[in-house]
Amino acid sequence: MPPLYERDLAAVASVLHLRFYPLATTKGEGAWLVEEGGRRLLDMTAAFGAAGLGYAHPAVVEAVRRAAGEMAGVSALFGASPEVVGFAEELLALLPGGTDRKVYIGHAGSDANTAAIRAARAGTGRSRVLSFGGSYHGGLGESQGVSGVYVAGGLRPEPGLAQVPYPHPYASVLLPDVLDQVDRELSAGDVAMVIVEPVTNDGGVIVPPDGFLKGLRERCDRYGTLLCADEVKVGLGRTGTLHAFEREGIVPDVLTLGKTLGGGLPLSAAVLPAEVDAAAEGAILLTTIGNAVCAAAGRAVLSTIASERLWTRAEVLGDRLLTGLRALAGKHPLIGDVRGRGLTIGVELVRDRETKAPAKLETALTVYRAFELGVLTDYVGPGSNVIELTPPLILTEEEVDLAVEVIDAALSDVEAGKVPESVIGPYKGW
Ligand code: PMP
Repeated sequence: MPPLYERDLAAVASVLHLRFYPLATTKGEGAWLVEEGGRRLLDMTAAFGAAGLGYAHPAVVEAVRRAAGEMAGVSALFGASPEVVGFAEELLALLPGGTDRKVYIGHAGSDANTAAIRAARAGTGRSRVLSFGGSYHGGLGESQGVSGVYVAGGLRPEPGLAQVPYPHPYASVLLPDVLDQVDRELSAGDVAMVIVEPVTNDGGVIVPPDGFLKGLRERCDRYGTLLCADEVKVGLGRTGTLHAFEREGIVPDVLTLGKTLGGGLPLSAAVLPAEVDAAAEGAILLTTIGNAVCAAAGRAVLSTIASERLWTRAEVLGDRLLTGLRALAGKHPLIGDVRGRGLTIGVELVRDRETKAPAKLETALTVYRAFELGVLTDYVGPGSNVIELTPPLILTEEEVDLAVEVIDAALSDVEAGKVPESVIGPYKGW
């Protein structure tokens, strides 16, 4: 039998993989993936955030085993099942604000955001949506059409899409200017919803200045526009609070969740005001939405995060990781900026600290070299020059320190010209 990676290249559609490096995985446990042949790799991406509780978390495994034995194949489209109803109730119980809300239970961040956008249009009778430059909201339908990264890449935007830059201190995009632009767009009274990532990831891990969400909340209230927090990537503890929006003391009208929510199974949620949901009946129909086995995984994830208060771990470990990475900036001229909140961290590599010219090639080489040294990372941002770290919340202090050591060594090797360009895989970035 040829090696797994070669069988994969031969049989599986390339669209399925980003292929930052030649990885073939046979197992996941905790924060680690095991390659064919037994080599263990520390996954500092948590499968792009989906393995927020790590791989094969015991609570998830047990819930899925039990639910699959009883409920595999049972459709929510016929009506209630205890797993699905329990999941929706337990999710709502973890949210501030009124109880008059409904939960769409989907498969991925993409369909949750698409459901939210359709519901907002139906619920408000308005057609336009406002999103931010560099945002990522999904790869399907409306969720794709409002994603700044796709629009910048030439994809046709959603009709009437309003796009405003995301406030970005390192790139000198200032909050007051952004809020002025939002105000101008909303003042016409035809925007159904503003969709925003409280910390944006795929656009380059950007932490907005304090006051951003509050500013959006005020303007949405002024113009009767719904505010959607897309917390698919940064929700459920990752930024140091259970919900990222809590930090600014606001409550969004709509909240979308995914990734971590399913413990690795396909599960997402869009929490909608009841009246919006009522207007949107039938807006999205997929045969296996409201999946009972995935909902059981979601209940295990929610109860684990809440009972272990994992957001406090994310804050402590995130500070340790940020401090370790910031210390590297003194010795690696490639590092232009290190930023993050909790366990959402970006390391921006530049050719020149003055001009901030993106070090795209060096970023790909560093990520590749870290893989060779046993740590998985990836890169994001319009210049494909931000190393993204979104590890599982169950990481240990020792694992944080190991990741910093390996990134340090990878940067040294790249700076010394020891990593040839020929190693880079097919993925070319945005
Ligand atoms: N929203 C955000 C903020 C995301 O980061 C992503 C995925 N990167 C999505 C939505 C889409 O989620 P999915 O890939 O599960 O459809």
